[in-house]
Amino acid sequence: MNIIFNCSKCHSEARTEIPAQAATFACPACAVEYPIPTGAVVDGKLQRCLVCPSTDLFVRKDFSPRIGVAIVLVGIVASSIAWAYYYTYVAYAILFATALVDVVFFFTLGDCLNCYRCGAIYRHTPTEHLAAFDLETHERYRQQMARISQARQGGDGVTSAR
Ligand SMILES: [Zn+2]
Ligand SMILES: [Zn+2]
Repeated sequence: MNIIFNCSKCHSEARTEIPAQAATFACPACAVEYPIPTGAVVDGKLQRCLVCPSTDLFVRKDFSPRIGVAIVLVGIVASSIAWAYYYTYVAYAILFATALVDVVFFFTLGDCLNCYRCGAIYRHTPTEHLAAFDLETHERYRQQMARISQARQGGDGVTSAR
């Protein structure tokens, strides 16, 4: 299993490989060790986040939204150039090809797990026992985090009206 997480100690985006029977894993940047709680992995299936450790995980496509947006942007720019030079069919072909590349990516890429609470991403791990993204759960965590950061600011009168 491969994990991408935000290290709570050095705050860097850490990426590391966790062997199947491991009891701990370490941040590659600052070497702080994270123990893997008992019962967090059952029969090779992840039951809870190993970082925060919330039990709410969702399944999503292992596809970087940044790459998706980049592909679309390149397509739009390239087709606009073709359009400007009156290569109308070329412009349409480029747009069509860009959409096709996105679709192919979407269907060929595997799934990964994402933690609602801390955003940790787990790759190369079974996902079929967990559900897809749920907006209600996401919203619950978002509001919880907002309350925590508001409490941290310590009632210095910056309570914004909603
Ligand atoms: Zn670290
Ligand atoms: Zn987490």
